[in-house]
Amino acid sequence: MLSILPLGCYGSDLENKKCISMQLTPSTVIDTGSLMSSLDIPQLLEVQNIILTHSHFDHIKNLPIFADFKLSLGSNSFTVYTTETIMNQVKEHIFNDLIWPDFTKLPNSKKPTIRFQPIEFDKPFTLDGIEIIPIRVAHVVESLGFIFRKDGKAVAYSGDTGVCDDFVNYINDIPEVKTICWESSFPNRLERLAVVSKHLTPSMLGHELEKINRLCSVYTFHLKPNLENEIVMDLKSIQTKMKITPMRQKRPIIAE
Ligand SMILES: [Zn+2]
Ligand SMILES: [Zn+2]
Repeated sequence: MLSILPLGCYGSDLENKKCISMQLTPSTVIDTGSLMSSLDIPQLLEVQNIILTHSHFDHIKNLPIFADFKLSLGSNSFTVYTTETIMNQVKEHIFNDLIWPDFTKLPNSKKPTIRFQPIEFDKPFTLDGIEIIPIRVAHVVESLGFIFRKDGKAVAYSGDTGVCDDFVNYINDIPEVKTICWESSFPNRLERLAVVSKHLTPSMLGHELEKINRLCSVYTFHLKPNLENEIVMDLKSIQTKMKITPMRQKRPIIAE
């Protein structure tokens, strides 16, 4: 079965609404916005692979703490899958022995806590039996979306993105995709802000949906938690035959 469990599915932190972390399997997680506060210790110890969509704080937030957790428990190292550019951004600006220790050299360089594994756009790789296709999406920094594919089913995951024809084209070219996780960060009222920060509003998402060549189930995420009610109202006004459901934390999304 192919599924995604949202641990945190919001574009910020507010009360119980948490930054982005999505569990693909017990050992593989996309982004670390809310990793530490969502899993218990045995579950955290099981996590071996982190896929990072981009360098923004809401997505890397728990990565430094997770590294410290793994090292202090004497646990095995873990692997971070991301592009070389994003890897260098995170190394230079977080694991620089100033903001946080360099966990790519701790406890020693031969057996470090964090191993970075560079991935490339459009070059599929496999984790836990799931084929993962990295897609370059349209955000203000280099950013990844994905197609996840297993057993004849596939899920498209937008990451943080504005209007992005590459993402649409991938979905249209892969007929197994019938489930899409698509960001919807701001209400229609804040479209200017969405455009400059390269995110989507429900109205912009509606235009993207018109480009898709089949009916899919769409799960929206990365909503700003303080604007959630307004965004959900705007989502309801999208004219489409597709079923649109705002993602809920801890409610699994199962590939159709
Ligand atoms: Zn974000
Ligand atoms: Zn972002």
